[in-house]
Amino acid sequence: MTTTLAPTPAQPDTAPGERLDHLYCCNPDLALCGTDIGDASEIAPDSDITCIVCADLEDEPCSPGCSA
Ligand SMILES: [Zn+2]
Ligand SMILES: [Zn+2]
Repeated sequence: MTTTLAPTPAQPDTAPGERLDHLYCCNPDLALCGTDIGDASEIAPDSDITCIVCADLEDEPCSPGCSA
């Protein structure tokens, strides 16, 4: 499947440095781990994935109907 990196949206109660970089697949508003990343902007594609859940799901279809 094809995945794309996306950062976690800025959250007021999240300290700098705790932002995670997620992956998304068919739905650019929803990370593989289930985080809503609709407000996030694109990040560099060579960034490291820091969300371990997304990293773990990278090779899995995002949904039963995933065609990516
Ligand atoms: Zn994630
Ligand atoms: Zn997908």
